[in-house]
Amino acid sequence: MCGIIGYVGKMTNIQRVLIDGLKTLEYRGYDSAGLAYVDDGVKIIKCQGKISSLEEKIDESKQGKLGIAHTRWATHGGASDINSHPHRVGSVTLVHNGIIENYIDLKRLLEKEDYVFKTDTDTEVAVALLDYLKRKGLWNNLEVIREFAGYIKGSYAMGIIFDDELDTIYATRKDSPLIVGVGQAANLIASDVSAVLKFTKEYCLLDNYDVVKMTENEVEFYDKDLQNICKEKLEVNWNIEQAEKNGYEHFMLKEIHEEANILRDTINEYVDSLNSFVEKMPDLKKYNKIHIVACGSAMHAGIIGKYLFENQVGIETTVEVASEYRYKKVFYDDKTLVIVISQSGETADTIASLRKAKENNIDTLAIVNVVSSTIAREADQVLYIRAGMEIAVATTKAYVLQVAMLMLINLKMMIERDKITSRELNELLAILKKSPEYVEKVLKEEKKYFDIAEKIYRDNDIFFIGRGIDYAICMEGSLKIKEVSYIHSEAYQAGELKHGTISLIEDHTTVIAVMTDEELSLKTISNIKEVKARGADVILLTKKELDDNYEFVSDKIVLPKVNSYIIPFLAIIPLQLIAYQVARLRGCDIDKPRNLAKSVTVE
Ligand code: GLU
Repeated sequence: MCGIIGYVGKMTNIQRVLIDGLKTLEYRGYDSAGLAYVDDGVKIIKCQGKISSLEEKIDESKQGKLGIAHTRWATHGGASDINSHPHRVGSVTLVHNGIIENYIDLKRLLEKEDYVFKTDTDTEVAVALLDYLKRKGLWNNLEVIREFAGYIKGSYAMGIIFDDELDTIYATRKDSPLIVGVGQAANLIASDVSAVLKFTKEYCLLDNYDVVKMTENEVEFYDKDLQNICKEKLEVNWNIEQAEKNGYEHFMLKEIHEEANILRDTINEYVDSLNSFVEKMPDLKKYNKIHIVACGSAMHAGIIGKYLFENQVGIETTVEVASEYRYKKVFYDDKTLVIVISQSGETADTIASLRKAKENNIDTLAIVNVVSSTIAREADQVLYIRAGMEIAVATTKAYVLQVAMLMLINLKMMIERDKITSRELNELLAILKKSPEYVEKVLKEEKKYFDIAEKIYRDNDIFFIGRGIDYAICMEGSLKIKEVSYIHSEAYQAGELKHGTISLIEDHTTVIAVMTDEELSLKTISNIKEVKARGADVILLTKKELDDNYEFVSDKIVLPKVNSYIIPFLAIIPLQLIAYQVARLRGCDIDKPRNLAKSVTVE
């Protein structure tokens, strides 16, 4: 969601540097783009639409060594040229990610001071406030930023250029991501490390209210009281190739095909060669209640966790959408554990939910992909998934690893509570270790999934039904279809459909039925027959052990014979590939679906 890049360094083709930087952030999702660079004064170029439209407007013959740029994901005011960032008022130019919640009050205050607003954005109010504070003449630029923080309610990551210091970029953040890249020939700010990799692998994290002042040769960090502080330098542990498509047509397809390898990396990190857990797995003995809190696909992974924890460990588990959890009445006790799941570790609602638990002195455990992200830093304990960089907005590989991590947590709790014999445990750990081979097997059947996609890509509606964990898989399969192909889709508990939604089933409505649970399969078959009787074309996703001559289905995907413990992350793969191919056949912008953002850093 929204991308910020700021560069000050030796390169003089500043417009190209900024455009290339924005391209690396493109995956985050946006609706307009813009840049400001210092030539003879500050020059701004911006427009609604893709970075390629911005690229058409730049003039690479114009030189400059400092600039800030932005991809906007509109929150206040539509996507338009004028609402795009950077915004400039008086002597201050700024790019902003986040939401200024009290912008109406501030706007009124500034209007009394004769400020006239040209855009509908909250950001223009922020930049006017900086200009107003500066015009008071009481403070230097660092102090202006400190004063500014006292006025603002909401979230922000900002890159700022002041006209009276045109060789310097200032930056600050509160609750929106921003990192600082520290290089030999350049210093940078960016929403995430992918944008600085071309210039440096070294970066520093910013805490809330920190202020950075950077020139070509120097980076200074200050805390909220403007005390000079030292920041630890971190090093990016992945390379730029990971952010490239490696011959795949889309990142989504590439990332699905990475699932076997990353699963191997993650499982090997937590389970040693003797099939026992390494120390990284937390001690979970004391808890008797778990709240899983997440958004989107991470929440769907959480539902699989709930079924596992309740059925196999016998521990009461709730799964809540973070945007609800943060504001609702929650019943905690000292044996409650809150597990938050977020690929980026920057999901605003999940961060707020984590903080809520911590304010109530409740232990927190995070499942996160991005190292040192806000959630990773704030949670009591972190279990990293090793998905590498995920660029496609619709998650695939990170979801698979979130499910795998919940399976590992489940096993750890089973051991702690004597719910499993050591023989059974060894068997399950061995099968988890072998699971990449099965993932590869499922991936090999890609053509079959693509053939199914060919038959359904013109549909207006696609329904998913399943029971238990199969229902959780349906939710994720359905979300993938919605996200990337824009086809209306719903996932239902197979037994619940007839309580209303079955009225939508008519001749040739596609219903994808997931049936991998042996105990519930006969029930699911009855539900499949119910939709079949109303004209549906049913695609069945099942496993070898349950396969039969089901003459009532139009297509069938059969997962290999394998211990049912790892079936959930095998079952999602065909659904991810079907969604991908449906979107491809419909000509959708697969890696950057409309209206969506990768890491949702606003409420
Ligand atoms: N709230 C600001 C706007 O709507 C910033 C949005 C963003 O984070 O991209 O312009």
